[in-house]
Amino acid sequence: MPKKCLPFTLEEIAAIAEKHPTPFHIYDEQGIRENARRLVAAFAWNPGFKEYFAVKACPNPRLMQILKEEGFGMDCSSLPELILSERVGVTGESIMFTSNNTPESEFVKARELGAVINLDDITHIDYLKRCAGIPELICLRYNPGALKGGNAIIGNPEEAKYGFTGSQLFEGYAKLQQLGAKRFGLHTMVASNELNPNYFVETAEILFDLAVEINRQLGITFEFINLGGGIGIPYKPEDVPVDLEFVGEGIRKAYQERLIGKGHPELKIYLECGRMITGPYGYLVAKVLHVKETYKRYIGLDACMANLMRPALYGAYHHITIPARIGQLGARVYDVTGSLCENNDKFAVNRKLPDAVPGDLVVIHDTGAHGHAMGFQYNGKLRSAELLLRMDRSVELIRRAETVEDYFATLDFSRL
Ligand SMILES: *Cc1c(COP(=O)(O)O)cnc(C)c1O
Repeated sequence: MPKKCLPFTLEEIAAIAEKHPTPFHIYDEQGIRENARRLVAAFAWNPGFKEYFAVKACPNPRLMQILKEEGFGMDCSSLPELILSERVGVTGESIMFTSNNTPESEFVKARELGAVINLDDITHIDYLKRCAGIPELICLRYNPGALKGGNAIIGNPEEAKYGFTGSQLFEGYAKLQQLGAKRFGLHTMVASNELNPNYFVETAEILFDLAVEINRQLGITFEFINLGGGIGIPYKPEDVPVDLEFVGEGIRKAYQERLIGKGHPELKIYLECGRMITGPYGYLVAKVLHVKETYKRYIGLDACMANLMRPALYGAYHHITIPARIGQLGARVYDVTGSLCENNDKFAVNRKLPDAVPGDLVVIHDTGAHGHAMGFQYNGKLRSAELLLRMDRSVELIRRAETVEDYFATLDFSRL
């Protein structure tokens, strides 16, 4: 993808904003489909390959339907996400249920749907047995601890709350064999927003070695290995996107040498990426409300951190384009703010931008993952609409904006 481009012209986005009041997130169907096909092609060497879209990244059924059409399954971690998948028509082993600290109701629903259950902890074996029964197919989540270096968002695996230790894995699989499980998967997820392609190849190597060792000791033949998600996206113009072909080819080599070469039969490779699937193809479109000058210069938008929390939450960089000012040099430094009564309600701090005036449209890039999805209503802010820019360039409203009535819907005014 070219550096920080927009999939629409100024005229197009102005026309869309005439019809759909700002702020809104808009997703680029063509970008999503082309990227999905690139990922699948990179793993075409593996006949059973499947990507399970991490629903939490962008839980909109219309986008899930598009990804289903591209052959994706869904990676769910809560009851509503399971129900969303069901409503989209993705059920059975096309759902990976990877949760942690899991309540009973979720295991029950996952079993009802026939989802692949991926257990996060050794005590969950007995818990699952009691509340929903042990399924024939089961997967365990591995936390490699000190075997694997840290990553900025998930952090050091030893500090991460997820997964089984190595020795717990052996104990867990042995116990599941006794309890009647017949088909097995192995999973890990140790990265988030990682841009180093070697990281994913190294993770695969660790899992392939482990699968061979478990196979030797317990006689378990794995049906699949799920390498998790975590493929990063180039938020900054200078970031280099992960080379999917390099990752696919590196994992193919490791698979041949360390798995097939060591006597383990062929198995299916799964991924459960979220961010890289939809992230770069979503844009938060807002309008300049005010430009303010005090000790600093501020561009105030009609969006706020309720529409995109990442910059305030972890200082994340999101590129900003002012379509009407493209080509004008960024002469001055601005903070780009929302209207929450929170001083960290800023989309950018000290960002060099062209001068903008009230009414200008502002586009914030890479909001297709953990954008609308992380929205909240603090300070009486309402969640925005979501739009889909279709392949034929028409625009579809795929989630309406919340209203004040939605905000009040859970309150009881009758006893005032
Ligand atoms: C969040 C999550 C993913 C997806 O991670 P990305 O960084 O969005 O690719 C996959 N699996 C699990 C268990 C997750 O929690």
